[in-house]
This record gives sequence, C-alpha cells and structure tokens, in this order.
Amino acid sequence: MPKADPYQDRTTIEALLRRATSIRETIPGPCRLMEVCGTHTMAVHRSGLKSRLGEAGIELVAGPGCPVCITPNDVHEAALSLVSEREDLILAAFGDMTRVPTRRGSLQSAAPAQGSSVRVVYSPRESLDLARRHPDKEVVFFGAGFETTIPAIALTARRAAREKIANYTVLTALWIIPPPLRAILQAKDARISGFLYPGHVSAVIGPRAYDFVAEEFGLPGAIAGFEPADILLGVLSILEQMAEGKPRVGNAYARVVGPDGNPLARAVMAEILTEKDAVWRGLGLIPKSGLRLRSEYAAQDAEHRFGLALGGPAADLPGCRCGDVLKGIIEPPGCPLFGRACRPDLPHGPCMVSFEGACLAFYKYGRK
Ligand code: SF4
Ligand code: SF4
Repeated sequence: MPKADPYQDRTTIEALLRRATSIRETIPGPCRLMEVCGTHTMAVHRSGLKSRLGEAGIELVAGPGCPVCITPNDVHEAALSLVSEREDLILAAFGDMTRVPTRRGSLQSAAPAQGSSVRVVYSPRESLDLARRHPDKEVVFFGAGFETTIPAIALTARRAAREKIANYTVLTALWIIPPPLRAILQAKDARISGFLYPGHVSAVIGPRAYDFVAEEFGLPGAIAGFEPADILLGVLSILEQMAEGKPRVGNAYARVVGPDGNPLARAVMAEILTEKDAVWRGLGLIPKSGLRLRSEYAAQDAEHRFGLALGGPAADLPGCRCGDVLKGIIEPPGCPLFGRACRPDLPHGPCMVSFEGACLAFYKYGRK
C-alpha cells in the first residue's frame, strides 16, 4: 500500500493551523500575504486553506504567478496574426494559451489561413518534433513561461540551431519573477504584508533572489511547496518573521529548493537568452523582467523572423479587471463580470482561462 503523504495529513494540518492562529493573535495590524505562484492560488482554494486562514485573520491574495495571465494581449494578438494571416504555418502552444480571449478572438476560435493550423503541445520538445515532421511549414512555438519552463524552451531553440531546423522559431513570452515583486511593492496599492514565494521557480533561482524584499522593503517572505502542510509551513515562517520583527527569506520547501537553486538551469538560460524590459498585463513595463533569445539565435526568434512589433499598447477586453487581480488590488469577485459575463465556459479574461488563474480558482472553489 502506498504511504500517505505527510504533507496532506489532516492532523498535521490542523496543528499547523492552530499554531498559525496563535501567532497571528500576537501580530497587530493587517496580515495580507500574496501567493506569487498560480499553483499556490489553486491549492489554497482547493484545500480550503483560503477560508480557514481568512477566519484566523490571515488574508491570502493572488499575485502575478501565471505566465498565461500576465502575457499581455499584444503578444496573444501577434500569435493570432501569424496563424490567421500566413499560409502554411503551424502555431504550437500550450492548451491554456489557445483559449485566452483578445479583441480579435482567441487562438482556439481563430480562422487559420490556408494550410495553417493551431496545435496544442504539452512540451517545447513536441513543438520541435512538429517542425521536423512538417519541413514544408513554418512552425512557431508560442513559448510562454517563468524560470521553471524557460530552460526547456531555450534548449529547443538551441537544438533547432544546432540541427539546422530552418522552419522552427519561438515566439518568446518569458518572464522572470523577482522584478514584478519589486514593481508591486513600489506601487504600494496592493498593501502586501509578505510574500509566499513560488516553489518551482525558486528551485531554479534560489532563495537569495528575494533578499531585496526583506532588505529594501523590510517585508517577510517564505518559499513554499504545494501540499497543504507545505503552504502552512510557509505561512508560519512568514508569521514568525512578523512576530519577531526580523524579515528574511524563509525556505519551507528545502526538500526541493537548495540554497543556490539550480545553477545548471540558470547557466542554460544565460547562454541562450538575454534580459529585456518587458510589459506585464496589469503591471506595465518593468525593467529587466523578461528574457529574449540572444542575437546568435535570431534565426530561431519568431519576433525577428516575422518582423513582429511587440511591446506596444495592449488593450484588454472592455470591463476586464485581470490586471487588478494580478496586482492583488481586487479579488476576483470584485470584477463586475465575475461569474456572469465571465465564466470558465465563456472566459472574458485570461485569469478565468488558465488552470493557475485566480478567477478560475475562485470560481471553482471559492464561491459560497
Ligand atoms: S511555473 Fe511552477 S512556480 Fe511558476 S507559477 Fe507555475 S506552478 Fe508556480
Ligand atoms: S472575472 Fe474575468 S474579466 Fe474579470 S478579472 Fe477575472 S478573468 Fe478578468
């Protein structure tokens, strides 16, 4: 019989909740913690921790932790243009990316040009296989991701270059997590008391990447895994830092996240990609918050190959408040469209599309 996961154990979870409640009682003022990672958002809703912690006066608020949600509409619309205006082109994308609504519809609803199509892939490697199997077509991979998926996306570009696969390019939507945290703190309107840092991203970049939050902004934070006890251990670390008045970067996921992160993955990223200023949905232009292929890989860069002009104004659909959800300014029910004109079967914004989206998490698990 498989052993039960100790991080899902109900007795442990209740004990951690009691401990969190008693520490919270000693801390004056609000306690508003932003879970940066979309998988945390889904997990806190699904496990009921969102409401249990709320009852104890510990508010959890979603942040910009989903690449599907924070990729602005001009990039989604560029992908749409490629497949609807160019013949004999395969646009390969992760499933959620194909459902994001824009002013021109979604990739799923697009009418492709002759010989063109949209294909859902489950890995960057699958998109490269498509290019190998269809040498008569241009294959563009809509590569969106954070530090967790970026190394694999970069490696496919390098492999295409090395194997001289001339019909393969990547439309990059690559985002790095620390810069938007700084942008959120500088904007001050999210009123954050601390951050629950993402587990997978941190396994790559390591805990030191968040030192500036404690050092410059005096705020606590902790890296957490994804099971209920993991998340509670992260919350406890933050509460203890608040109670002691000593903010730092706690690591409640040390079984996965080492002190140096993953230097090999970072080396791959540095070899193939370079930093760029990037526009995030809701957060706007953030210096050095994105990555693009280095000039040596221009032949693999869809933006370069097809002369795409990205980074311009990116209008959301009228009424969509996804930008404010991603900044932690409102909770999903604060959007007038939530549950009415915007539902999982009829999404009006990406936060209702993505499996890691805050609006979808709220819709599935958070409604009374
Ligand atoms: S990629 Fe991993 S760490 Fe990043 S938001 Fe998704 S689940 Fe969280
Ligand atoms: S309810 Fe829909 S439109 Fe409103 S913020 Fe969420 S995803 Fe965007």
